[in-house]
Amino acid sequence: MIFNSKALITQKFSAPNKHFGVDVIPSDGTGLGANIYAPFSGYVMYLNQPGLAGYYLRMYPNTTGEGKSYLIFCHLNYNDWKNRQNGIVEAGSIIGKMGNSGNATGAHVHLGLLLDGKYVDPLLFPEIQTYLGLTPGGQSFSQTGTGSINYTNEISQFWKGLGGIEKIFILLFGVWFVKQYIL
Ligand SMILES: [Zn+2]
Repeated sequence: MIFNSKALITQKFSAPNKHFGVDVIPSDGTGLGANIYAPFSGYVMYLNQPGLAGYYLRMYPNTTGEGKSYLIFCHLNYNDWKNRQNGIVEAGSIIGKMGNSGNATGAHVHLGLLLDGKYVDPLLFPEIQTYLGLTPGGQSFSQTGTGSINYTNEISQFWKGLGGIEKIFILLFGVWFVKQYIL
């Protein structure tokens, strides 16, 4: 899971609003400095984008940090970020701490998902819902305390049958590879 407690969604993905990710905070009230855990084994790359993503990281589903499909975690805590190095991490290891760097107005994690270089809504994927501590398949969850959202749709239905987040990425890399080198 991304935090020590399940995530609360504070802002959803919205292409019209140019918000290309989902904003989350820990539901247990932990603020600045909350641990962030790796969703899968892969390669972590630490980057800096002043005024926007701030101190952030990319999490690749491979051991090389190559390719155009990866997760991004933005607005990290600088004091933790500055001590980290690019490299391979195990699933569940701490990869950073929540901060408010860049254009964040408060401490949160902006989680983005790029597939073949394009941003897609991370919440469309049951594996990512699970990673956030939300129940896959459309169960309602808290959005800053009110309301509920049902994410059951054809995409999540399609992915429901798959086993793990790695499988999704392996499949997507397969599609990308075929497009790139065979077609
Ligand atoms: Zn955001």
